[in-house]
Amino acid sequence: MNYTELVDKLRDTRNLTDEEFKALLETDEADAYLTQEADKVRRSIYGTDIYMRGLIEFTNYCKNNCYYCGIRRDNRNVERYRLDEETILNCANEGYKLGFRTIVLQGGEDPYYTDERLCSIIRKIKESHPDIAITLSVGEKEHDSYQAYFDAGADRYLLRHETADCEHYSKLHPSELTAEHRQKCLYDLKSIGFAVGAGIMIGSPYQTTEHIIKDLRFMQDLKPEMIGIGPFLSHKDTPFRDKENGSFELTIRLLAVLRLMFPYCLLPATTALGTINPLGREYGFKAGANVIMPNLSPTEIRKLYMLYDNKICTGDESAHCVNCIGRRAASVGYNVVISRGDPKKEE
Ligand code: SAM
Repeated sequence: MNYTELVDKLRDTRNLTDEEFKALLETDEADAYLTQEADKVRRSIYGTDIYMRGLIEFTNYCKNNCYYCGIRRDNRNVERYRLDEETILNCANEGYKLGFRTIVLQGGEDPYYTDERLCSIIRKIKESHPDIAITLSVGEKEHDSYQAYFDAGADRYLLRHETADCEHYSKLHPSELTAEHRQKCLYDLKSIGFAVGAGIMIGSPYQTTEHIIKDLRFMQDLKPEMIGIGPFLSHKDTPFRDKENGSFELTIRLLAVLRLMFPYCLLPATTALGTINPLGREYGFKAGANVIMPNLSPTEIRKLYMLYDNKICTGDESAHCVNCIGRRAASVGYNVVISRGDPKKEE
């Protein structure tokens, strides 16, 4: 197999056959050239800019019971918390002062935050800072709820599809959660006008190369503006406690593949990537990632939003995280910019 030709084809056509994807995903022989080309493509569109998003993990209550997730409903060892509106607004204000122009509100699926409460938070952040973009990541809702968030001023929505294969999905989630509904949510969000983020965990239990190829096909259809991927990491209080962690190398390879398939997408170097390898986010930038999401949550509750074991940056102040990320990006030739960081559009 001539891997250079395969990478050239992927770069030039943004596509491969299933057989070609399988060959590329299952070898490390192409990695150096693949990441080099991904970086070139990203530089041609986004330069060396890294967009920062301030992440507020505002609740760790969740009504769902995903087998992989540390804040799943049945984990009795989690001390649960919710941030009130005032605390969330204070975090957003602090983020604004630190240079963030995107705030991400993420949480478990917590019915306490009714549409009315969420919309009030969105409106108040926008009233104080009209130049800020608001990204939501609060799971599966019905169309009208998404519409209400959009009308209140939310701009973007992150909802990883987790896996496009229905059978694989059913091995990661209890039966009340379905791949079909999650995918429908993504199409609803798109039709409403949100910039949407899909994505998967790399190396989630029972995942095969064929599943990943199906994920790539799903994303070719959805055309997400953002794609969030990171390695699966086990959590000691979940049914997947004994499952192997995902592969760092495969995560980097996929970041590069995604950059070549979706040159304009916003691609974060995730906290999970920085957890599995101390320099994971730097390698991520070099493979085409152009977004980073430092934590803006109050330091005292960070340890309680533990999706997987050994999550990094749970003891730091927000200002410390911003400086640290700036240094890390600069160390590999990129620079963190103060900007909403909207996705660029192809001419
Ligand atoms: N409740 C929202 C949702 O369902 O999208 C947002 C919060 S959810 C915890 C955010 C993401 O964390 C999930 O989409 C999942 O991919 C990731 N995640 C959860 N547990 C993980 C684990 N053990 N390892 C890596 N990522 C994990």
